[in-house]
Amino acid sequence: MNESLIKHVTQKNLTYFIETYGCQMNAHESEKIAGVLENIGYTYTDGKNKADLIIFNTCCVREHAEARLYGNVGALREHKKNVAGAVIAVCGCMMQQQDAAKKLAVRFPFVDIVFGTNHIQQLEGMLSDVLLGGGRRVLRIDEDETVIEGLPALRNSLSSAYVNIIYGCNNFCTYCVVPFVRGRERSRRSADILSEINALCDQGITEVTLLGQNVNSYGKGTDIFFPELLNRIDEETGVKRLRFMTSHPKDLTDELIGCYGRIGCLCEHIHLPVQSGSDRILERMNRRYTKAHYLSLVERLRDRVPDIAVTTDIIVGFPGESDADFADTIDLVNSVKFDAAYTFAYSKRALTKAAGMPGQIDKQTKKERLKKLNSLVGACMLDNNKAYIGKEVEVLVENSSKRNENEISGRTRTAKTVNFEGSAHEIGWYVSVKIDKVKAHTLHGVRAGEE
Ligand code: SAH
Ligand code: SF4
Repeated sequence: MNESLIKHVTQKNLTYFIETYGCQMNAHESEKIAGVLENIGYTYTDGKNKADLIIFNTCCVREHAEARLYGNVGALREHKKNVAGAVIAVCGCMMQQQDAAKKLAVRFPFVDIVFGTNHIQQLEGMLSDVLLGGGRRVLRIDEDETVIEGLPALRNSLSSAYVNIIYGCNNFCTYCVVPFVRGRERSRRSADILSEINALCDQGITEVTLLGQNVNSYGKGTDIFFPELLNRIDEETGVKRLRFMTSHPKDLTDELIGCYGRIGCLCEHIHLPVQSGSDRILERMNRRYTKAHYLSLVERLRDRVPDIAVTTDIIVGFPGESDADFADTIDLVNSVKFDAAYTFAYSKRALTKAAGMPGQIDKQTKKERLKKLNSLVGACMLDNNKAYIGKEVEVLVENSSKRNENEISGRTRTAKTVNFEGSAHEIGWYVSVKIDKVKAHTLHGVRAGEE
């Protein structure tokens, strides 16, 4: 602990604001950043305009995130004039790309700190350099692939928590920049994971989502593999609901499928990104499975747990995607009837193989395909949700509702959002709710016994 830094921060009552882009991994990294900052004495503010420290936690998976970041960082030029001594930092996976990090540092000379995903534990030192070192700039973007343990995290939720189990990715899907910015797979030791989860349970957390780019390849170089990790969490911790994301279809083994319906805390939901329904495109994407294989996985999952919710990621407009290829994707969505899908227009990323492939698809075609896909996904979601009407479900309360102050919202084990009457003190509780109305994205209900 840097005592002079803590003294400086607490005497001046310094505040921080974090803007997070991208996936759950980033959201969890922001929780770790907040944990480090609060340990130094910073307090959180939601008033970005007045914050003494603004941190942008970036994403580089799709191109528009980059454009948005440049716009938002550029808008802060005035902030340094308005708030004396304000510090601006940019971190996250976009900053793991040395070129992007250097470009940002040159373009925005008022940015004080630039650091990559593996340098959160050095944030205290970087802030000390800037605040106590005469305002010099710090750039920390070198490669470092060690697994860092013991970082404090200030979690956003009182009921559920993210826990990283594996970092990096070895898959090199041809569209994806993640392996280039987050390095090769590194699994955490199971003992570290179990003790983190037990500590969370001691704080009252009952739902845990295990995080990684490809969680089902967890375990190489450690003591146990993924299915065994799930068993151990069920047996050795107080978790009531266990989820994980993301799993790659090529690594979804029979053993893992067999965990569903057997491991009590494992929720009846799987996020299984398919990306495309065309074998030709799947091959060009280097996904290493076929449409038929994906469908057989879903069938086997449903054999074990008939009402398991299946969600996915889909890309439209991958280079070379013809109308017939897109029709295969539509056909797959019709067969599976997903409970939700994150859908994306293909975005060209530097360093990736697909960026140089012939047959890049024009913007308009991508837009039309996305629209068609989204309306089909919406219809599937509504159809699936209709099956919930009249059923009683267990809801873990997560939030008070944004739209109606007398309502609270939470999720079922199948990850459906349910709104019903209640108050904020119930956050973290389990409530039985009978569903009476549904939309594509949410369910509505009344407390069981009160209907
Ligand atoms: N590791 C996870 C997710 C990684 S990124 C997995 O393998 O499933 C999250 C999603 O972003 C991907 O599943 C993919 O659908 C999308 N994505 C990644 N790169 C993209 C690109 N270049 N253009 C459009 N979508 C992309
Ligand atoms: Fe990207 Fe594929 Fe790795 Fe997911 S599995 S992070 S899509 S390379």
